[in-house]
Amino acid sequence: MNGRNGIVSWNITSRCNYSCSYCAQGRRHESVPAPGAVEKIADFIAGLGSGWEVKISGGEPFCERGFIPAVERLSAAGLQVSAVTNFSSSRRTLGRFIAAAGNSLRTLSVSLHLEYTAPDRFLDRCLWLKSAMPDLPRARMVVNSVLPPGRVLEILRLAHRFRDRGLFFYPQLIRRKGRPVEYNPEETMLINNFIEEAGSERALNSAPSLTGSLCRAGMDYFIITEAGECFSCYPGKRDGSGYLGGIAAGGTGGQAVKLREKALPCPYETCPCSVPRNRGIVDTARNG
Ligand code: SF4
Ligand code: SF4
Repeated sequence: MNGRNGIVSWNITSRCNYSCSYCAQGRRHESVPAPGAVEKIADFIAGLGSGWEVKISGGEPFCERGFIPAVERLSAAGLQVSAVTNFSSSRRTLGRFIAAAGNSLRTLSVSLHLEYTAPDRFLDRCLWLKSAMPDLPRARMVVNSVLPPGRVLEILRLAHRFRDRGLFFYPQLIRRKGRPVEYNPEETMLINNFIEEAGSERALNSAPSLTGSLCRAGMDYFIITEAGECFSCYPGKRDGSGYLGGIAAGGTGGQAVKLREKALPCPYETCPCSVPRNRGIVDTARNG
């Protein structure tokens, strides 16, 4: 236990039962954690202490059989647990997840992928899930959907439909190598109108430049890959400069994990990491 409060993003597996054309991880989703890695990584995260929140994503977390036991382990250790799913699992499996997380459940993000599911069916399932989530003070459900070029109008219309039913809908720009893809002028205008209407850049996952801002990524925030390698944030993973070490038997870096002890000026051109920005890990005041 390090006695601090923090957030860790754990990409538990690359495996996914979908193969979306715009997936940031490409079309291959076959890589799985080494035997015993999920348990070791969960033990490591549990050891961070109850002041931490773990956000579990993939691939698709529900494709990893160790996912729900890991949630149970982390919840029992007192950590808050959040997850992102493509929402293709059965209601029974989702119910098992909710029960495993219990009072520790914070955010369950369900992602709409129109290449694989119809909006009406997805909306019905969302309304069911909302009603199935126990009345816990911290738990909330968020619907998100990427904005593939050519489908922006359709998805922003859906955003209004979902919101009218009391669901929080979060559209997300598609990024390649940390930068949003190019949208045509009409779609760019729709996106800008959406941000203006929402009154905040945070309504979309923009990637501002925060170069030079003091950031506690690597200290109070870090990411863990399915292999147990730890990095300060996504740009730090992309070029390797944010490497913090590997979790024994899960990692291959041959270096024990050592979190940073102080904030550092952001060295990267843009920041695609919404968690550090939204949770005050990075001091954005300097850059507006
Ligand atoms: S559901 Fe997510 S992880 Fe799976 S292929 Fe689609 S975008 Fe990629
Ligand atoms: S500001 Fe963003 S990109 Fe820069 S170090 Fe922090 S999390 Fe990483």
